[in-house]
Amino acid sequence: MTEPNEPFDLLLRGGTVIDGTRAPRFDADVGIAHGRIAAIGDLGGRSARETIDATGKIVAPGFIDSHTHDDQALLSQPDMSFKVSQGVTTVVAGNCGISIAPLRPDSPLPSPLDLLDTGARSRFATFADYFAELEKKPAALNVAALVGHSTLRVRTMRSLDRSAEPDEIAAMQALLAEALDAGAIGLSTGTFYPPAVKASTEEIIEVGRPLGERGALYVTHMRDEANKVMESLDETFRIGRELDVPVVVSHHKVQNVPNFGRSQVTLPHIRAAMQCQCVALDCYPYTAGSTMIRTDRGMLEGRVLIASSQPHPECAGRDLADIAREWNVDKDEAARRLQPGSAIYFLMDEGDVQRILAFDETMIGSDGIPVGEKPHPRLWGTFPRVLGHYSRDVGLFPLETAVWKMTGLTARNFGLAGRGTLAVGQAADAVVFDAAMIRDTATYEAPTSPAQGIDAVIVNGVVAWRDGRHSGARSGRVLRRDPESPRRSAPRSLAAAVPSTGA
Ligand SMILES: [Zn+2]
Repeated sequence: MTEPNEPFDLLLRGGTVIDGTRAPRFDADVGIAHGRIAAIGDLGGRSARETIDATGKIVAPGFIDSHTHDDQALLSQPDMSFKVSQGVTTVVAGNCGISIAPLRPDSPLPSPLDLLDTGARSRFATFADYFAELEKKPAALNVAALVGHSTLRVRTMRSLDRSAEPDEIAAMQALLAEALDAGAIGLSTGTFYPPAVKASTEEIIEVGRPLGERGALYVTHMRDEANKVMESLDETFRIGRELDVPVVVSHHKVQNVPNFGRSQVTLPHIRAAMQCQCVALDCYPYTAGSTMIRTDRGMLEGRVLIASSQPHPECAGRDLADIAREWNVDKDEAARRLQPGSAIYFLMDEGDVQRILAFDETMIGSDGIPVGEKPHPRLWGTFPRVLGHYSRDVGLFPLETAVWKMTGLTARNFGLAGRGTLAVGQAADAVVFDAAMIRDTATYEAPTSPAQGIDAVIVNGVVAWRDGRHSGARSGRVLRRDPESPRRSAPRSLAAAVPSTGA
């Protein structure tokens, strides 16, 4: 990498390394050259063009946000401060069936696809075009991207209120194959949402055929995360088995009061499936979700906060119940008048959130929606909240485990080669943070507030964030699926032998 007398580009001196493998921490300097980790150890005699004093701080791999809707933000808000400020150096975009490509300039964008596409209104006919644009105008962090099944439906189907017909399936397969060959890492679905709610399991299996031969992933916002969550898990596992691909259960949750506590049933079911096939899952550390404003499926049962509303922008940040009272209508009618827009729904139990977070194989994903002035606080707070609140203050798991859930585990599950751990030769994505100080400050009332305790964030060897300020660097890359190494790994029988840490 570097000759012994060649100075490093960057030296993180005197810190304690948590390397992203869940191994115990150790004291070491980290030398970076040519965008890669060049040395780890006692580098006291070595010089560097730039040195960051990490004494008393943790040096960890840059965090990977396993679940995002940042497709458009990478281009329209390329500093990506809401993520970089948390220590995130890579995002997985294109989740929940929604991706920015492949779309025609005139494709209609039914909700929730419109959540992606504010401002610039740029659309991309192919993933190759999208990636080319990202490489022409790089963002501050790396991206790996999924192809959205709802996007494929919007692009190809004559009508969304039924399952796809054979010619439509063939068209979607061709578009998926083209996207995967351009470097997309898999297919996401969102059968919970209107544009895909009528898609049958068989449609998804057929559309997903190009995944198998390429070793790509199937990632899903399941059809039902409430009363029929077990049936939805079985549908997900079946799709994975029939396509012979790894599956990722997105933002796993059990929602609505009658389902509180059911993570005690879903998690053993997921663990059992892991003995037969590759299954991964992610979770965000909050009891409220956020998505488009909708009035069905018990979404208005709990407290609802309006995050954005096209017809009533003045209502952002307000309680739906208060708006309804003021307008003298019921909550359903008020929600209808506020559409289209996005809202925050308090639908989960804290015990379930903690049990799912603590489950050994759960990755951390924000599911943040980078739109409007009152987003869900997970957009700015997810990673420090897991490190500070849940790991340090609640004691849900050791810091090494917390870091692994947002680095090494995520890189393994998404096949992000050369990322997710600190080792010589790995890409130099790193974060320096204070384990005693780190905490999220974003709240439902003031959601766009950066984390405390993040000292420095390094993306491909370049400092992107330092002492609470963005450096202006935009050193992010497109992380393409590696066509030479399909990620179809053996079932994780070892995982099944490890007892759940859930309580
Ligand atoms: Zn989702």
